[in-house]
Amino acid sequence: MSGATLAEALAAARRRLSEAGIADAAQDARLLIAGLLKLSSTAFVIDGARPLDPSQQALIDGALARRAVREPVHRILGRRAFSRLDLVLSPETLQPRPDTEILVDTLVPYAQKMVAGGGCRILDLGTGTGAICLALLDLVPGATGVGADYSAGALETARRNADINGVADRFEAVESDWFAAVTGAFDIIVSNPPYIVRSVVGTLDEDVRLYDPILALDGGEDGLDAYRAIAAGADDHLRENGLVAYEIGYDQKETVTAIMRENGFARIEAVQDLGGNDRVLVFSRETSV
Ligand code: GLN
Repeated sequence: MSGATLAEALAAARRRLSEAGIADAAQDARLLIAGLLKLSSTAFVIDGARPLDPSQQALIDGALARRAVREPVHRILGRRAFSRLDLVLSPETLQPRPDTEILVDTLVPYAQKMVAGGGCRILDLGTGTGAICLALLDLVPGATGVGADYSAGALETARRNADINGVADRFEAVESDWFAAVTGAFDIIVSNPPYIVRSVVGTLDEDVRLYDPILALDGGEDGLDAYRAIAAGADDHLRENGLVAYEIGYDQKETVTAIMRENGFARIEAVQDLGGNDRVLVFSRETSV
């Protein structure tokens, strides 16, 4: 296909992905080509007649081959936008989802109030790319944060993302199994932990199952192992009037609330995602409600 124009390459890419059974073939073709060639979203409209050189075509062909075997678009590109950030991904990190921006947005007003009242120190458990903590640091300039993760590879990625997004001076990465290596107390403890029921992990879309780290998905027999671990350690690491906030699975609102209640926490806010599913819960100590 040498000598194709941008418009021809886009049409061919769409066909190739569609033939491979990719549901959003047109969108994925556009995202991949725009990402690989660093084009703006209008380039396909105003610059469609531009010829591609062979190296660009090779780049596109390589990416299409990967997408055809279900590797997600943003993994192929190696980065993904989240909140106002540009995040690099690695094999050890869950690809941040738009739903998780709801967790960030829910916490921003709380964090701003804490900063105004003297400071806001955030702990993000299972930080992965750093998405949640780094987005909060970006949106709340006075806040500082620790991203903890079990995986050293994820922490390297989180550190890199802190650098790229200009918040490295307020971010620290700590290798830790939940709270095990975490020291000190925090105003906000936040997590999007693995919450998929173990028997369901194998039924997830290939895009997720084959390319997101299982460690970041598998929540144990009932999907709630991580919430139990965090609930048990939260009190020791939470400052007075501190908050614990989670992303949850669509059917976990009541079970996670019960786990937190057993550990002395009361739910103060619950937020749904755009699909109308319960997605974010915020807790404070029972005594401070
Ligand atoms: N939202 C992710 C998914 O359904 C799961 C993330 C998680 O377990 N925290 O693929």
